[in-house]
Amino acid sequence: MKSYKDLSKEELKSEIEILEKRYNEFKAQNLKLDMTRGKPCAEQLDLSMDMLDIPAVELRKAADGTDCFNYGVLDGIPEAKALFAQMLEVSTDEIMVGGNSSLNLMYDTIARAMSLGILGSTPWSKLNSVKFLCPSPGYDRHFAICELFGIEMITIDMKQDGPDMDTVEKLVSEDDSIKGIWCVPKYSNPDGITYTDEVVDRFSNLKPKAKDFRIFWDNAYCVHHLTENPDKLKNILKACKDAGNDNMVYIFSSTSKVSFPGAGVAVMATSTENIKGIKKSLTIQTIGHDKINQLRHAKYFKNLDGINSHMKKHADILKPKFNTVLEIFEGELGGKDIASWNKPNGGYFVSLNTMDNCAKEVAKLASEAGVALTKAGATFPYGNDPRDRNLRIAPTMPPIEELKKAIEVLVICVQLVSANKLLN
Ligand code: PLP
Repeated sequence: MKSYKDLSKEELKSEIEILEKRYNEFKAQNLKLDMTRGKPCAEQLDLSMDMLDIPAVELRKAADGTDCFNYGVLDGIPEAKALFAQMLEVSTDEIMVGGNSSLNLMYDTIARAMSLGILGSTPWSKLNSVKFLCPSPGYDRHFAICELFGIEMITIDMKQDGPDMDTVEKLVSEDDSIKGIWCVPKYSNPDGITYTDEVVDRFSNLKPKAKDFRIFWDNAYCVHHLTENPDKLKNILKACKDAGNDNMVYIFSSTSKVSFPGAGVAVMATSTENIKGIKKSLTIQTIGHDKINQLRHAKYFKNLDGINSHMKKHADILKPKFNTVLEIFEGELGGKDIASWNKPNGGYFVSLNTMDNCAKEVAKLASEAGVALTKAGATFPYGNDPRDRNLRIAPTMPPIEELKKAIEVLVICVQLVSANKLLN
């Protein structure tokens, strides 16, 4: 297909005419398609149904004799720690098992730093200025936490191998009000990028001016592969230890998209010194998390092999959906120089970049035809995409026929907005 930029005015006009006709045909169907959030579909949830059939008597006693029906155990039963230690490639004493949500663990970690500080540092709320680096496009809920607590966000460009590390290194070494950075290092939300070893090494060797600077390493998609040759992510906790920066990283993850969102198990991994610090206040916050669910997950998955073979079943459901999106993108947008996108090897999203200053208009047009997309700009701090070009596509939830229709509408909108822009 010819680049839109090489089309004459007349050619653009006739292209617009055809696209408008197609758009109106879809509009007349009164569609109501929701592509907004990266939720698993019902079929994926069914995969873990058997877990709920484990008899209650088998969920009573943990390996160390703990009665899982009773109070106690702040940081997780041994079976759950062992499972997550394998998943995150850390030792069991670097694991803290939480409740049902890793986002909750992240929120609590920031709230704790705000009110109590980190390992004896001044509580962030007592400082004049607290800033976070936000590689973008990124996860909107990370940014929402910063916004809620009044933490100033600095947008960092995402490149194909991870965040722009030249800028990260420079800023953290110069400014002690920069207290953290949000990272989704594997199959990133939304780009689907996995940070290279070099990027992980540069992270672990950061020389932050703030002693209480922390990397928030949200490894939400660590086992969520879509191919037989999964991306590999270097172990950041080990790299930090090797670099003498033992306490610099907090790793987060959960089984939300392995078993059940909202009823999975969340986990945090960090240095033993950080864990000791966190436990001081966590012990005031709770007597312990849901051990029955921890044991249920540990019995069901058994080990990392168990998780991996379960995730293959997820991939079998998801791969055709991702392929549908990518095939329609390639077929309708390929070669036209009006959009670019990644082909992720895992995770939950396809990230689409339109021409500059087109994303909002595309989302508006799609919504008028009954296709709801994640708000344009949502993948940037303060909802402000400086180039107004990024759209996060979440293909997992809708049935494939619905997905196909939604993406067809989307690509028509991208072409229409681009052609009109080039014409005017
Ligand atoms: N982190 C990332 C990067 C996500 O994309 C999501 C959900 O979409 C979450 C965390 C939420 O995790 P949880 O369900 O464990 O709170």
